Amino acid sequence: MTTTTPALVAYDDAVRRYDPVIGIEVHVELGTRTKMFCPAEQSFGAEPNTQTTPVSLGLPGALPVVNGTAVEYAIRIGLALNCQIAESCRFARKNYFYPDVPKNFQTSQYDEPIAFEGWLDVELEDGTVHRVEIERAHMEEDAGKNTHVGGSAGRIHGAEYSLVDYNRAGVPLVEIVTKPITGAGDRAPEVARAYVQALRDIFRVLDVSEARMERGNVRADVNLSLRATPESPLGTRTETKNVNSFRSVERAVRYEISRQAALLDAGETVIQETRHFHEEDGSTSPGRVKSDAEDYRYFPEPDLVPVAPSREWVEEIRATLPELPQARRRRLHDEWGFADAEMRDVVNAGALDLIEATVAAGATPAAARKWWMGELARRAKQDEVELADLAITPAQIGELQRLVDSGRINDKIARQVLDGVLAGEGDPEAVVVARGLEVVSDDGPLLEAIDAALAAQPDIVEKVRGGNQGPVGAIIGSVMKATRGQADAKRVRELVLERIG
Ligand code: MN
Repeated sequence: MTTTTPALVAYDDAVRRYDPVIGIEVHVELGTRTKMFCPAEQSFGAEPNTQTTPVSLGLPGALPVVNGTAVEYAIRIGLALNCQIAESCRFARKNYFYPDVPKNFQTSQYDEPIAFEGWLDVELEDGTVHRVEIERAHMEEDAGKNTHVGGSAGRIHGAEYSLVDYNRAGVPLVEIVTKPITGAGDRAPEVARAYVQALRDIFRVLDVSEARMERGNVRADVNLSLRATPESPLGTRTETKNVNSFRSVERAVRYEISRQAALLDAGETVIQETRHFHEEDGSTSPGRVKSDAEDYRYFPEPDLVPVAPSREWVEEIRATLPELPQARRRRLHDEWGFADAEMRDVVNAGALDLIEATVAAGATPAAARKWWMGELARRAKQDEVELADLAITPAQIGELQRLVDSGRINDKIARQVLDGVLAGEGDPEAVVVARGLEVVSDDGPLLEAIDAALAAQPDIVEKVRGGNQGPVGAIIGSVMKATRGQADAKRVRELVLERIG
């Protein structure tokens, strides 16, 4: 089936005339040792089809058993998203035929999710907060992985043959579904991105998943529809499947806004369908037509008892939830006393953990921020790496700052020490010693250099003696040069004035 798309409408124009509504479904693979319904181990990158049991292969007669840790993780996620936790809930069979689902059904939850009715406040890069309502978070199992060989772009279409790996079949998933996200207007793409990013951060701090987008631990399906005004009924939506990076989530929403606006402008209708996202040009293309009442013939899973987490257990889990990312950011903001904009820059630069660790290593928050957001950010940008990937640790920055504070090196020398640490010459102290960078604080060699400078510039000495202190800087400059910048400039000034006076 082909869908003709008129030329895209410019984004700004589209959001001026239409109100975008987003909906996001996020699947997260839980980092349990074993699978959702059987004791097969699960780990990334294992030899294909080595992590299976009769249950995850769907062999006749094999019976599933629920993984208790996966249930606990699902409850953790639900609580962190301000959801209610079901007193009792059942699994259901979602029936469909595809080779990566050997049982011909996926064990999921349908009308009885373990968590429901939650919300998450999502912070955009400029500090704007948008509340996203969560409809449900349910447990299910992942499918296996098909690899299509010989076709274009790894798609089944045109492939010569396909391989199936069942290692992923049965890996525990939690699927989190939002209610329609309205009111974001022209910032809808940013809200979508920030929401998925906030979820990723939460999964990590909850320690329920490695949550690595590039490994497919977190996958987002992005729904989008347009309507004439915020008062109009919801328009027809498309669902762009398996978007695998934050940036792609943002781009997919942008593209669909422009594409659907063009259809509506032309008097055409948006077709309710799934779509594929294309990394190369940020476009989407049609997948399959999807009706609202797809016939998955859901029915309660007869081989599993209901999951009924006791209220005591839920409260125990609640009591052990770690501090969540947003609360932590607020706390550190207060403790450090950074301005709002400074704090946002720190967060956006991915420097929060680094600065926290540097402060723990003894630096003041201001000093820690100065290094990471200044000199080190500059070097990271220059080398096109993340701050955290620079070959220097927060403990080393703490040590560097101690050397500055004690007067053994100055700020300018500290940059040379950074060079040495980044070049693998060891800790700051070792670099200072090995490179002979210690500030010359002993007056002896300083006086020698000062006397030489005074003798070389008698005219300046005359002027200063005459009461004009302006040119004294030239003397200090030549002393600093003679000591290769290792002199304490303040002390040099004192000594020069003493000498002349
Ligand atoms: Mn799902």
